[in-house]
Amino acid sequence: MTDLNETLFNRAKQIIPGGVNSPVRAFKAVGGTPKFIDHAKGAYFWDVTQKRFIDYIGSWGPMIVGHSHPEVLEAVQKAALEGFSYGAPTLREIELVEALIKITPSMEMVRLVSSGTEAAMSAIRLARGATGRTKLIKFEGCYHGHADALLVKAGSGLATFGNPTSAGVPAEVVKDTLVLEYNNLSQLEEAFSLHHDQIACVMIEPIAGNMNFVRATPEFIQKCRELCTRHGALLVFDEVMSGCRVALGSAQSVYAKLLPGFEPDITVMGKVIGGGMPLAAFGGKKAVMEQLAPMGPVYQAGTLSGNPVATACGLATLNIISRPGFFDNLNQKTKRLIKGLEQVASQASVEFCGDAEGGMFGFFLLPELPQNYPQVMKSNSAHFNQFFHGMLDAGVYLAPALYEAGFVSAAHTDADIDETIEHAAKVFKTLKH
Ligand SMILES: *Cc1c(COP(=O)(O)O)cnc(C)c1O
Repeated sequence: MTDLNETLFNRAKQIIPGGVNSPVRAFKAVGGTPKFIDHAKGAYFWDVTQKRFIDYIGSWGPMIVGHSHPEVLEAVQKAALEGFSYGAPTLREIELVEALIKITPSMEMVRLVSSGTEAAMSAIRLARGATGRTKLIKFEGCYHGHADALLVKAGSGLATFGNPTSAGVPAEVVKDTLVLEYNNLSQLEEAFSLHHDQIACVMIEPIAGNMNFVRATPEFIQKCRELCTRHGALLVFDEVMSGCRVALGSAQSVYAKLLPGFEPDITVMGKVIGGGMPLAAFGGKKAVMEQLAPMGPVYQAGTLSGNPVATACGLATLNIISRPGFFDNLNQKTKRLIKGLEQVASQASVEFCGDAEGGMFGFFLLPELPQNYPQVMKSNSAHFNQFFHGMLDAGVYLAPALYEAGFVSAAHTDADIDETIEHAAKVFKTLKH
């Protein structure tokens, strides 16, 4: 019997490339048929066969308060009644930016856009425009959206720049992007000693969620900060995933606790700040942000930027996550999930380790936590795929690729976490060695 998901996937594949509008949704890494989602509420979504899943991707991060939260729904419905988009400024844009600046004091000014890709791309243009330099440093395993200059892998050495990772990206467009190993202090120092007066910015995911979950070491963040300051480059924190997700003050607040006074120069945000609507942002110090049009020479614009329905959704979400105890609760739940998974994996003699911060987690089928992308990719992919499908059959939806992070929302209950761990205990025992 063909399942309705399969019927829809076949229908979609006729008219949408790969049947999906973003590649990871196609389950290519894990095999099988993706679930077509019918509706969602709290910590769950239901596919078109009305099978319920405990949702650990939360739209890849945004749904931190859970799906269809009544306060968010009310704000969105009210905003929708007032019109969808005006192409003229609104009060809610000011309120959202004020809220962002309050919880992220490294940003004195913010520009709103519609996607993380757009925010990261604009941040790089701004860094180049503000410094008058062209070269940028990024790290292997960090994703900053799909702008041309960022779809790049390392060249053959530190003196040579990157090669495109996508067809359609001309080599000339990535020739100013230098790709280094994450958490590698000596490579970073060497790169600065070679190219110091040409580097516009260093862009980093401080807690990298696009290679599952890898923290930059505090020493590495400190070194990024020092070298950027010394050589007049800007430090850009891409917090599209970690922003308002690992802590209310984002990953930069986690590092500021370890490195007093620490601040990035530019922050890129997305996902949580839109609460599930297309909304993203980038911000920094006034002197840098004032380089943007219409004040300065760096052009950037958007028809739907600061959209009134999206800002209503983002504001309602930020309002909920700003309440006392929100992140303590979320952090406890996420840590309990990872501890529980570690315990049942060890009982089944499966090599497994994990890490979590706030409402974001990662796990690896490895004996110890990886520090960089090559180590992440040593995770046992055959085991991961069996684990993923075992959990999916049991009604637990994990990210369908071993290099993706997972997300817990405030709507996940202790009972949901316990149920997940119980299923995992059974699935771990079935993994073929
Ligand atoms: C998701 C993500 C992006 C891209 O955001 P989109 O809204 O998908 O364009 C950029 N950077 C990071 C760190 C992300 O996780």
